[in-house]
Amino acid sequence: MVKFIALLIFTALFIITFICFLLYLYFTLITSKQIEKEIQLKQEQRTKTEINLNQKLINLCSLFSIPLEYKNDLGTAAGHILYHQDRKGRIFLDNCKIEVLEKHQNKPWVLAHEIGHYIALNKLKDDTEEMADQMANELCCMLLSENEQKDLEIGLKVYFKQEGRR
Ligand SMILES: [Zn+2]
Repeated sequence: MVKFIALLIFTALFIITFICFLLYLYFTLITSKQIEKEIQLKQEQRTKTEINLNQKLINLCSLFSIPLEYKNDLGTAAGHILYHQDRKGRIFLDNCKIEVLEKHQNKPWVLAHEIGHYIALNKLKDDTEEMADQMANELCCMLLSENEQKDLEIGLKVYFKQEGRR
């Protein structure tokens, strides 16, 4: 009789533990699926904001009458701005032109950096990478709403503040 009761208790405990384990698996699965979905949604939002920003930058080029071309080879550069400079170091931006690698065509970062060069050259006669990044950052923040800036927070930091690109 004692043996039977012990067996009954053991079986009951085993079933309860097993049910708890199943519940744990179920909730873990649900939570990880939710997290996965949130990450995916954020990524989609980020891509959408990047495409919008890129389009605004392209519009800006046309507003400033800066020809923009996409190339499949620019040597080691991801993009550059071509302009005339005379022997005295005077800069002429009238016939300048921006070229960006085709693979960066749908991302705003390289184009923003090159427009940053344009603004820095035009406003301050400064041709440094740091000033181009600073201007690019200011320009992007100006073109983005606060929420959009939050979407692209990492990109703005990486591309314009911490990693000075050439
Ligand atoms: Zn540059």
